[in-house]
Amino acid sequence: MSFRVVLNSSSIKFSACHFLKKPSQCSRLHGHNYYVSVEISHTLDENHFVVDFLELKEKLSSIVEPMNHYILIPTESTDVQIQEDSESIEVITSNKRYVFPRSDVRFLPLPATTSELLAKYIHSKLKDIYQDKKILVKVRESRSTMAIYED
Ligand SMILES: [Zn+2]
Repeated sequence: MSFRVVLNSSSIKFSACHFLKKPSQCSRLHGHNYYVSVEISHTLDENHFVVDFLELKEKLSSIVEPMNHYILIPTESTDVQIQEDSESIEVITSNKRYVFPRSDVRFLPLPATTSELLAKYIHSKLKDIYQDKKILVKVRESRSTMAIYED
């Protein structure tokens, strides 16, 4: 028998700036307010919980907060070249060149910063904590669009 808990909190969000390869309007630097929800399934523990909600909320916040109000750069992209010096990050993609202050950038080990891959990234971080549990992560980037990754 398996139980499922849902953390669907409007307080689990992060705002970030990114660019994608396509479509063309998404290749321009732009931002989103991302809302993150998590579902975890498992049998109950000795306290009759799937997980401790407060702990889950705290762990999830510690995963998303480092991305909050940063420019997200995918380091595994074949379309993005990154050069750095002590103060700045130069990013070359397609025919564009951006230079950002180092302090404003977060590198993510992803081929792109789509909502799908952000959901997978958050999932992998949660899986490190809750290794034996089934996890589903939803990342909503607008009122009408959401990406889901689950194991
Ligand atoms: Zn976007």
